[in-house]
Amino acid sequence: MFQSSSIEISRSALKQNIHFIKNYLNDGVKLSSVVKGNAYGHGIEEYVPIAEEAGIEHFSVFSADEALRVKRICHPSTSVMIMGYIDNPELDWAVENDVEFYVFEKDRLEAAVVAAKKKHKKARIHIEVETGMNRTGFDASGLKEAMKYLKENEEFISFEGLCTHFAGAESIANYVRVQNQIKKFNRLRRTIETAGMRPKRYHTACSAAAITYPKTQMDMVRVGILQYGFWPTRETFVQYVHKNGMPGEQLKRILSWKSKIMNVKAIKTGEFIGYGTTFLAQTDKVIATVPIGYAQGFSRSLSNVGRVLLHGKRVAVIGLVNMNIMMIDVTTIEGVNKGDEVVIIGEQGELEISVASFSELSAQVNYETLTRLPMSIPRMIVD
Ligand SMILES: *Cc1c(COP(=O)(O)O)cnc(C)c1O
Repeated sequence: MFQSSSIEISRSALKQNIHFIKNYLNDGVKLSSVVKGNAYGHGIEEYVPIAEEAGIEHFSVFSADEALRVKRICHPSTSVMIMGYIDNPELDWAVENDVEFYVFEKDRLEAAVVAAKKKHKKARIHIEVETGMNRTGFDASGLKEAMKYLKENEEFISFEGLCTHFAGAESIANYVRVQNQIKKFNRLRRTIETAGMRPKRYHTACSAAAITYPKTQMDMVRVGILQYGFWPTRETFVQYVHKNGMPGEQLKRILSWKSKIMNVKAIKTGEFIGYGTTFLAQTDKVIATVPIGYAQGFSRSLSNVGRVLLHGKRVAVIGLVNMNIMMIDVTTIEGVNKGDEVVIIGEQGELEISVASFSELSAQVNYETLTRLPMSIPRMIVD
């Protein structure tokens, strides 16, 4: 293996999660699979085909480059939607390839019409409205203008969706803010309908909103984190259980991250291990090096704190995490050899290192830990 570690993606876990989500959704709600951030670190190229096997026909991404990657490998009839960044010159490409995209400002709206005229094809747009997140989205007066412009340019535009995003549906602390957003969205929806405009779909919900505020599911949900086997927060899980009871079929983690022992050596009492003086061997030690460091996404803040699995046991990271190497204390484990499997995230024997525990130790949220896994680590599909 050329690479010092690899990431395994479980096909059966992924299918089970999609089944779980589809089962939960209200009847007729379309499930858009959110694969931004390299499919939350799982790998777009690996994730998309399996999601399609599980019945997904719609993917959401952040930017044009991600849309391109999905388009290269997805089924020709599968839809791809850009929720964030696309530069005006790339709109030609989007229109030509039926890629849907968010519009939240007049400039992109006008550019979409220009691209549609050039390509003799309708631009497929989702109008994003501002409801309280205060990030992107038309406010009420901007929406009014946009609707007028849409009407005048009907032959160049397919009005695919009206949408918004909630500012923290995963925490009950934001309950009032989210409720206000729902009300505001519904008001804007009525305004455009009164003006005789109707998109193909209304969509607002991410994973947490779909669970905690089921009425936000509307015609389509944009689900990211749940598909990968994680509850957005513990609170969201509690909300779920409160309403539905314990799930019979659990969400399953899809991803594991593994490496191998690179070298084993004995260290005498009184020696410092690694850079500097953060770890002093107070007894004779046996240490093993693992070819993973912060360049591979193993945070330096896990120095002297992190844990990995080896021979079915939990083992401590000692000394500072280097750019490409970390040391682990294998003094109490018999017969450790070069090439032995080391699990950074995932299961070995009876034990598991979850992304959550890994994230807590390194002060990251699951979303961040996952999306920071470098693209260069090879992803392998296992059953
Ligand atoms: C990331 C994102 C989602 C999905 O969020 P999850 O919490 O992972 O389900 C939905 N909508 C928008 C606009 C997003 O940016």
